[in-house]
Amino acid sequence: MQRIAVFPGSFDPITRGHESVIKRALPLFDLVIVAIGENGEKKSFFSLSQRLAWLQLIFAKEPKIEIATFSGLTVDFCQKKNAAFILRGLRTAADFEFERSIGQMNKLMVPGIETVFLLCEQEYASLSSSIVRDIIRNGGEVKQFVPDGVDF
Ligand code: ADP
Repeated sequence: MQRIAVFPGSFDPITRGHESVIKRALPLFDLVIVAIGENGEKKSFFSLSQRLAWLQLIFAKEPKIEIATFSGLTVDFCQKKNAAFILRGLRTAADFEFERSIGQMNKLMVPGIETVFLLCEQEYASLSSSIVRDIIRNGGEVKQFVPDGVDF
């Protein structure tokens, strides 16, 4: 059986922190589906098509990575994709508390799906999409925080 993981997120925009977690997960899985979750309540900074285009460009040469979008529950999307794993990154204790509730609720809904966490690299521990958006809004340079290919 193929080991398929879904890495769900907003990727608004994708950061080097996300990129690092995705690349470090590749030896663990046969396929990693990087999936942009569309959340009706959350207005994004970058359009869905822009976020999708960046992901497709960044991982174009990686056959073990698929790019997708989904709406609704992550566990439903996983089942649709035959993915038995949800991949998430952990930066801080706050991330852990947040991820624990989501992970445990997902497990109650679909016991066959395991959430797998990778610790973030130390250099990316303070990096978040929301800080990157703030820097952009205020005219700062974000090149060092986003993967090559993410240009504005
Ligand atoms: P969400 O909207 O679900 O918070 P994000 O796109 O911000 O989506 O994050 C998706 C995943 O990436 C989460 O598991 C988050 O913890 C992880 N992540 C975000 N930033 C980093 C980072 N700098 N290093 C490692 N993991 C990160």
